[in-house]
Amino acid sequence: MGRGIWIRNGRVMDPARGIDRTEDILIRDGRIVPFSPDEAGKAAEEIDAAGCLVLPGLIDFHAHLAHRMTDTGVNPDLMALPNGITAAVDAGSVGTAGADAFVRNIIGGCETTIRLFVNVSAVGVATEQYPENPDPARFDEDAILAICGKHPDHILGLKLRLGKGFSPGLGLKPLIRAKEIARRAGRPLCVHLTNSEFPYADLLDRLEGGDILCHCFQGMGEHSILDANGRVGGAARRARARGVIFDAAVGRINYDLALVRKALADGFPPDVLSTDVVATSVYQRKLFHLLYVMSLFLALGLPLMEVVRACTAAPAALMRLGGRIGTLAPGAEGDAAIFRLRQGPVEFRDQYGHSAAGNLLLAPLATVKAGRTAYKRIDFEF
Ligand SMILES: [Zn+2]
Repeated sequence: MGRGIWIRNGRVMDPARGIDRTEDILIRDGRIVPFSPDEAGKAAEEIDAAGCLVLPGLIDFHAHLAHRMTDTGVNPDLMALPNGITAAVDAGSVGTAGADAFVRNIIGGCETTIRLFVNVSAVGVATEQYPENPDPARFDEDAILAICGKHPDHILGLKLRLGKGFSPGLGLKPLIRAKEIARRAGRPLCVHLTNSEFPYADLLDRLEGGDILCHCFQGMGEHSILDANGRVGGAARRARARGVIFDAAVGRINYDLALVRKALADGFPPDVLSTDVVATSVYQRKLFHLLYVMSLFLALGLPLMEVVRACTAAPAALMRLGGRIGTLAPGAEGDAAIFRLRQGPVEFRDQYGHSAAGNLLLAPLATVKAGRTAYKRIDFEF
């Protein structure tokens, strides 16, 4: 009885190693191992990936995964594994009240590698009917520090949502307090800002290296990362130079294609491509899943290598799992995904009626998670 999986003849793209070439991949005992024909001959499973794209298992860095805990939570494995995604991050669905259950039930119960940002509001985003309480007087610093200490590997940082729809009249107060707590916890802060009451510089100038601006291409209201001339503002460029992370999190209403185009034209691509997928948007035309977002950015002219980097090596490092996931380097987890780059016209639309015409769609064929075939389409190799 042989061991392992041999993925043959695929076009392997691995931004972590700067590789884009035809190569064979061997996975054994749950890990990528150096390829040798002898060892490959002993593999129990052989996948012919000729004409296909072989990527590290993809990472969705901004999703809502508190399945059966919140209104928005998708079933993580069902959202991820059939789409070549083998790791995902929850962006603040739960606060301290639900974090322990999230770690036990969601992280502990799924095959997908999952991490989370804990909402600074104790209840988190339990429902989309109304937002979490953003009053900094309610932030429970002791409870946040305790939960971060209890799950140091699983909790990546803190999450805060700001804007007229979330924190009306509170201005910068929730941000200043959340930054204080995040600093004490030694964690980054991930900030959602839409329909802002204040200029983006007021936020960006307060973020430090490692902090994250999600939905960085949102265009709701009068403020965005662009200045009055439609160029990426100085505050955004200074923040990027300090190591602040710009995550597209191209969810639902939280992006504007016209704004994305201006930012890309101004030499400001996102550091990370993610979805903000929730139960009501997954597998729906308006968002679908990460492969939709990746295909959209291909349509907007981002090179395939950069699109893949923004969903593999870049988020892996932010999950503090660089070299272990998001790469096909020997020694890494045995997570890989096989795709067909489907040619043919495809149109993407945002909520404002802007559209983008593309010619490529990343279509998933098979996913290997921790050395096991977790998904294979029936008409792939049958
Ligand atoms: Zn979100």
